Amino acid sequence: MTLVAVSKRQPQDRVEALLTAGQRVFGENRVQEAQARWAERRRQHPDLQLRLVGPLQSNKAADAVALFDAIDTLDRPKLAQALADEFQRQCKHPQLLVQVNTGEEPQKGGVIPGEADALIKACRETYGLSVSGLMCIPPANEQPALHFALLAKIAARNGLAQLSMGMSADFETAIRFGATMVRVGSALFGARR
Ligand SMILES: *Cc1c(COP(=O)(O)O)cnc(C)c1O
Repeated sequence: MTLVAVSKRQPQDRVEALLTAGQRVFGENRVQEAQARWAERRRQHPDLQLRLVGPLQSNKAADAVALFDAIDTLDRPKLAQALADEFQRQCKHPQLLVQVNTGEEPQKGGVIPGEADALIKACRETYGLSVSGLMCIPPANEQPALHFALLAKIAARNGLAQLSMGMSADFETAIRFGATMVRVGSALFGARR
């Protein structure tokens, strides 16, 4: 079980406190904010693992590949193409998770469940990308368990080992449904500024 400490919009002293305590896996949801916060710290902590957990525009793929060790929000062919191009250009292969919009919410990123198998197949066969697992953010006002179960099912039938699911309010449920990574922000750092 990996604890991803989601440090977006958290003050630096709280991030430093967690680093001092030994936490090394951090998640950010914006490329620019992550660059400002982590580009320098990376040098002091070569063992850091940075994960992008927020939406990625294709035109920011180069910056994202340069900074992050994992991109958890791959959700469309155009982005797969942009990432494949950057992997080749930079000779760097961050881990990839496909984000699934299990609640089919229009405002949320992620491929809808009915198109997930096809996207995973295209990532592998068309774009030559290695997908490690899936990520989801369940709708705020629904029982998360059904969404976690659905994500686990899609992962199993596609032979994917990693499941990034569960946040401050529901990580215990996510772990029961097989999460291999939980992304916790406010429960770890306190409320965001
Ligand atoms: C902000 C965020 C989290 C952490 O949320 P908390 O409720 O503070 O734990 C996890 N995942 C993603 C994708 C986020 O954007």
